[in-house]
Amino acid sequence: MHEYSIASSLLRMAEEQAAKHAAARVLGLQLRIGELAGVEVGLLETAWSLVRERSCCDGVDLAITFTPARWECSGCGASIAQGSLLACVTCGGKAQLVSGDELVLDRIEMEVV
Ligand SMILES: [Zn+2]
Repeated sequence: MHEYSIASSLLRMAEEQAAKHAAARVLGLQLRIGELAGVEVGLLETAWSLVRERSCCDGVDLAITFTPARWECSGCGASIAQGSLLACVTCGGKAQLVSGDELVLDRIEMEVV
C-alpha cells in the first residue's frame, strides 16, 4: 500500500529529526500535499495512526495543507489556468507543472528539554 510506505517514511524522518535534536517528544507534523500527488488522505491518516504507535510520534496527528496544481509555460513562464488548453496563449509553448505533485514534510514540532 502506497500510503503505508509514505507514513513509514514520515515516521522515519520524524525519528531522525527527534534524535538529532535530542527531543523529548514530537508534538506535531506539518505536511504539504499537492492535489496531483496521488495521495489518498484518508488512507494516509489510517496508515499513520498504525505506524505512529509506540513511536516518538504516538498520539501525534498530521496537519495537512493541500496545494493546488499550478501550470506555467515552458517557453515564456506565463502562468496557465488549470482547465484551459495546456498550451501558452502568448507564445504557444508547452505547459509544465510547477507545483501540485509534491509531498513535503514542512515542519516537525518537537519538545526539547
Ligand atoms: Zn509562453
